Amino acid sequence: MKRILILCLFSLGWQACQSQEQPKKAVKTTMSTKNNNPVYSRTDSAKVVLKDEEWKKILSPEVYYIAREKGTERPGSSRFEYSKEVGTYYCAVCGNALFKSDTKFESGCGWPSFYEPISKSSIIYLPDNSHGMVRTEVQCGRCKSHLGHVFEDGPPPTGLRYCINGVVLDFEKAKEAEKQYEGKKNGKG
Ligand SMILES: [Zn+2]
Repeated sequence: MKRILILCLFSLGWQACQSQEQPKKAVKTTMSTKNNNPVYSRTDSAKVVLKDEEWKKILSPEVYYIAREKGTERPGSSRFEYSKEVGTYYCAVCGNALFKSDTKFESGCGWPSFYEPISKSSIIYLPDNSHGMVRTEVQCGRCKSHLGHVFEDGPPPTGLRYCINGVVLDFEKAKEAEKQYEGKKNGKG
């Protein structure tokens, strides 16, 4: 009897140990959307039209949820929210240039905020009456991915606040371009 009890306790302890070993959460790889994404291009301005099944294959679940299912990332979760780095923000889905860092400002709303897009055609505007609110949705002008919303409480000169999900942004430092330029200038050719 005693032996059975010990065996029982032993097996219970072993089970408890097993249950603690949860599979480790996969490391988030936002930047990997560029790899094996055939539509990503910083130079091609041709419109991108793909079916949801195709997007699902080339985007990470995180990017797919925001860009194609109009999801919203958790406020305060983006590494871009307080970033002051000088450079350009691109659409993480297709590489379309969206915002310059000098139009970025700290709105305190919990998401990266800008007062003006790079060009008129870089963004598409759509009325959004979901969740009992009247808002204007902003989508990427090239691939029609959901980016966020625009509000009329931004700073001058536009008075607009583009509230954008950091997950669908891809940033490149201006320095990278400068380095390439310096390299060419110093080269003998
Ligand atoms: Zn795009």
